[in-house]
Amino acid sequence: MTEPYEVYAIRYATVARKSAENFIGGDPHESGDRMDYFVWLARNGTRTFVIDTGFNEAAAKRRKRDFLRSPAEGLGLLGVDAATVADVIVTHLHYDHIGNFDLFPKAQFHLQDREMAYATGRYMATEFFSYAYELDEIVAMVRNVYAGRVTFHDGDAELAPGLTVHHVGGHTLGLQVVRVWTKLGWLVLASDASHYYRNMDEGRPFPVVANIPQMVDGWKRMRELADHPNYIVAGHDPDVMKRYKAPSAELEGIAVRLDEEPDL
Ligand SMILES: [Zn+2]
Repeated sequence: MTEPYEVYAIRYATVARKSAENFIGGDPHESGDRMDYFVWLARNGTRTFVIDTGFNEAAAKRRKRDFLRSPAEGLGLLGVDAATVADVIVTHLHYDHIGNFDLFPKAQFHLQDREMAYATGRYMATEFFSYAYELDEIVAMVRNVYAGRVTFHDGDAELAPGLTVHHVGGHTLGLQVVRVWTKLGWLVLASDASHYYRNMDEGRPFPVVANIPQMVDGWKRMRELADHPNYIVAGHDPDVMKRYKAPSAELEGIAVRLDEEPDL
């Protein structure tokens, strides 16, 4: 019997968005949803996995995002010390998912082969594809490779009983989603395979994309991986904070627990 994981989303930043920034073909005049920024935590009695590491205050200023708190501080409020975390799953290498990696000095980073190839390959000569990467962070991750701190995965992989990663691509060529065994069954953390619930539910791709057909296939793949469509958690949707409850009063507005039935 696999011990179920508790799963949390920790919100660390937010920004106002126009509809056209969130959906291909969105009305440029229509104001859109806010975009929230999260890191995720999956833990049980034996293992702790942090999924993505967010960005820091300097990056928030540069890219004009409203920074709420360091992701490490959010993890601290859940009793997790970033300095001792052993496993960090990197869904992809965009700046809002891999900044702050220096706050995890003990971590092994779990990454898809195809994400490192993409982030260091031919498409980065085109700003449309390189814009959401920070060169210094990519270089630092290459240094981590040489230091033996990156575990590469190619497609599907089990990192521990009840926790698997799955390459889906689409948004970037190497994006992976994370499937976690919980008391409800299999839960899928979509990360940027679906920024908003509406991207996958209404079939409207997000405009930052490397391969649109692959993005569409990724939505289907997540429905196969999750035990119920409601157990897929969108990567940047402010609705996450409404669908799920804070684990305690002091974490209100900061973190929500995802291995509970969502309130739709
Ligand atoms: Zn993102």
